[in-house]
Amino acid sequence: MARKKKRNNKPAAPMPVGQMKMCKLTKEGMMEEIDQRSNQPTAVCNRCRSKANAARDLCQPRTL
Ligand SMILES: [Zn+2]
Repeated sequence: MARKKKRNNKPAAPMPVGQMKMCKLTKEGMMEEIDQRSNQPTAVCNRCRSKANAARDLCQPRTL
């Protein structure tokens, strides 16, 4: 008889704030982090309109 495998429902590890995109930070309301990373924006997100100093911080970056 096959042993039933118990589903491992471990919650996903929380993403470090440093790895979150501005889009996510905006959703989470993390204003301090947003301020720090958008004080000299060089890119804006096409999807959620967030601005960021680094394009890699956006889900759909568009250079300003
Ligand atoms: Zn976005």
